[in-house]
Amino acid sequence: MKKEFLNRIRAEINLDAAERNLSSLKGFLYDGFTKPACVIKADGYGHGDLPLMNLYQDMGVDFFCVSNIEEALRLRNGGCKGDIFILGWSSPEDADVLAENDIITAVVSRENAEAFSQKASKPIRVHIKVDTGMGRVGLNADDAEECAELIAEIAAMPNISIDGIFTHFAAADSRLDDDITFTEEQKQKFLAAVNAAERLGVKFNQIHFLNSAATVYCYDSRSTLARLGILLYGLRPAYAMNIPVALQPVMSLKTVVSQVKTIHKGDSVSYGRTYIAKDDEVIATVPCGYADGYPRQLSGNCAAIIKGKRAKGIGRICMDQMVFNVTGIDGVSEGDEVILIGSDGNESITADDLAEACGTIGYEIVCGISKRVPRIYLGGKQSGNDN
Ligand SMILES: *Cc1c(COP(=O)(O)O)cnc(C)c1O
Repeated sequence: MKKEFLNRIRAEINLDAAERNLSSLKGFLYDGFTKPACVIKADGYGHGDLPLMNLYQDMGVDFFCVSNIEEALRLRNGGCKGDIFILGWSSPEDADVLAENDIITAVVSRENAEAFSQKASKPIRVHIKVDTGMGRVGLNADDAEECAELIAEIAAMPNISIDGIFTHFAAADSRLDDDITFTEEQKQKFLAAVNAAERLGVKFNQIHFLNSAATVYCYDSRSTLARLGILLYGLRPAYAMNIPVALQPVMSLKTVVSQVKTIHKGDSVSYGRTYIAKDDEVIATVPCGYADGYPRQLSGNCAAIIKGKRAKGIGRICMDQMVFNVTGIDGVSEGDEVILIGSDGNESITADDLAEACGTIGYEIVCGISKRVPRIYLGGKQSGNDN
């Protein structure tokens, strides 16, 4: 039988899973109060921003969040018809580019607002960022009245058009009493500032504070947008979090066996000779390494799914290769598929599992899958199945 050889590596992006995830998450949002704002910064958390933007846009989403102007322009030039919002600081030098492309930016301070007002030759739409406890950027909201007066001042600046106001929770993914209280306090501070600003005559089209974690843990219909990120991708804000809805990881990472060989007791594998065979062992090398975004930190502490069975990673993970012990898995040969993230039958390895094993979060794993890994889109309209 002639064997078909797969490509070296690929990240499969399951658009049907992405579609189901968004549909499930919409179930948490009261119709007419809160609409989903899909967060597709960092190239859609490594999944590819435009295919996801197209999918969500077809599903009726008309508000997208990114983290900088380059990402915003990619969406606009890629056919985004809805609102595009830059969640953090952007340069006042870009004021007119923002206006010309109808991109909304956050405004994070009085100085930032003044600079935008000075640089803009036409009105730009902004959302006021309020810092209620994250401690990064934003107007201080410790005193609601003071905060509101500053917002009113910003509203009166030439060429600044306030479209919305928002804050960001620091610990909405935690169920610890202290963290629950902290999140509630953040929300109260925020709403107090919003109410005070409204009393001064400032109008907001959007008032928002929900991220993924808050949407499923402490939904509140006073947030007009739910800024959904990680859950859209089927991953968890925190490993310990129980998600009260079935979500499916959207990305799988697949590579192939490049060589199979038998090694003997005392033989070593890979750099530094950290792995020494205790017996005769069958090992499979794969052409994926840390340059593909697979964390080197997982050397000796990782697994792959090969022929439906779990194989342990052995020795150091190299830039472009890594090795698995396939002793006891029948008939492994060059070209066989190797699942590094994904599932097959009862076996499953998620980006969250990898993250947990190396002390980070799933976000960093998927964002870190590097550019040299081609993204292959399955399902949705992109598959070409309906032509
Ligand atoms: C990234 C980001 C989000 C999305 O966070 P998730 O945890 O992925 O849902 C929401 N709001 C802001 C301000 C962000 O920067």
